[in-house]
Amino acid sequence: MANSRFEYVKSFEQPDVLLPNTWIVVRIDGRGFHKLSDHYAFVKPNDRRALDLMNAAAVEVMKELPDLCIGYGVSDEFSFVFHPSCQLFERRNGKLVTTIVSTFTAHYIFKWSEFFPSTPLQPPYLPSFDGRAVIYPNSRILRDYMSWRQVDCHINNLYNTTFWTMVQQGGMSNTDAEQELKGTVSGDKNEILFKRFGINYNNEEEIYKKGSVVYRKFELEEPTPIQTSVDEVSPLTEQKQSRSQQDKIKKLRRKAQVVVDHVDIIKDEFWERRPWIIS
Ligand code: ATP
Ligand code: ATP
Ligand code: MG
Ligand code: MG
Ligand code: MG
Ligand code: MG
Ligand code: MG
Repeated sequence: MANSRFEYVKSFEQPDVLLPNTWIVVRIDGRGFHKLSDHYAFVKPNDRRALDLMNAAAVEVMKELPDLCIGYGVSDEFSFVFHPSCQLFERRNGKLVTTIVSTFTAHYIFKWSEFFPSTPLQPPYLPSFDGRAVIYPNSRILRDYMSWRQVDCHINNLYNTTFWTMVQQGGMSNTDAEQELKGTVSGDKNEILFKRFGINYNNEEEIYKKGSVVYRKFELEEPTPIQTSVDEVSPLTEQKQSRSQQDKIKKLRRKAQVVVDHVDIIKDEFWERRPWIIS
């Protein structure tokens, strides 16, 4: 196949390698899930089955791609974080994004019937996802990115919980509820929930309030050596790593259990207790 007269077309391909030694975040988002969630009658505001399905697909993505450090999901979106030392596909943007999107979608569809046993998928309402990669230069900004998504989760969930309670329990029309919520701050929504419906927002389920964090639970096996190994993967020392060290870390990452948690990732505690995630 080499050296045919057609081969020059290859030179039209544009390079899309992402900057070295930066955190790569691939965020995927369900296409038209507003419509899709109506069609399959997702419970409003939060369908637990749909969230569990998102998380189950994300766990499979983490298992298939050991270069991933952590994932964070809310609603129909998921962010996946590659370590600065990641060399998968020579860090080519298109390759990374499409692999995450298609791997996630494949598992989402494969597992659909497990979570929605009596609601089979039906064209044209087939789930698909878009995706993009963004690079962040240091772990402080990466953490700000994660915080941004979790704050978004909180704001949307408080709004949606209040809106749907006014509609479902208060018998209000969608338009009236929307109108009344216009210009309100968090305190107002908390008060509507509590005074009118006796609902304390703090008692809502953590998965709805905090979203879902997916990461490798290393401490279950060899706590100390792992932390040292992961330190060695830090961008500054990356070049010093031997091939065998890299292989060892990869193997440990592959073996580690992937867990789903619904916790605060804005404060330091989550990260300080798990220094291997973004060291
Ligand atoms: P786009 O293609 O631009 O992303 P979209 O319809 O997917 O459009 P989003 O902003 O991504 O819009 O919002 C996703 C919508 O999917 C939510 O607003 C909500 O209606 C619905 N949705 C997603 N997950 C759930 C869930 N677990 N329970 C109930 N509804 C959900
Ligand atoms: P990469 O992940 O780098 O793409 P790959 O194993 O997919 O690795 P490709 O260069 O994409 O490698 O080649 C795809 C391979 O899949 C072919 O070489 C062939 O072995 C196999 N294959 C694909 N389609 C068919 C088919 N219809 N019949 C038989 N084999 C196929
Ligand atoms: Mg979108
Ligand atoms: Mg969407
Ligand atoms: Mg979305
Ligand atoms: Mg091929
Ligand atoms: Mg191939």
